[in-house]
Amino acid sequence: MEKQHAAHGVHRPTWPDATCGTCDADWPCDPAVDALVADHGTGLPLSAALWRAFDEVARMLPGASFADLRWRCFGRPLAHVEAQLDEPLSCDHWSEVTA
Ligand SMILES: [Zn+2]
Repeated sequence: MEKQHAAHGVHRPTWPDATCGTCDADWPCDPAVDALVADHGTGLPLSAALWRAFDEVARMLPGASFADLRWRCFGRPLAHVEAQLDEPLSCDHWSEVTA
């Protein structure tokens, strides 16, 4: 399977507004999430990568609510990932961060 490091390099966050410098979507954008999946798969390493994004975005957007941050960094990216999978994400750690 070919890794998508090029895509990962193209889509980068811009701070402090926490949007993608390439496609202008809220960070992490869908292509960035795709790159994380290519690098980390859909298990615990992806969870760790999303937590890092959450940590960055939360520090840059101190006024954002936890619900907004959770949707931006876990809910929306995981819905995007799950839409590309044949089976639902089933690991326990996902329900812990998205419940
Ligand atoms: Zn982007």
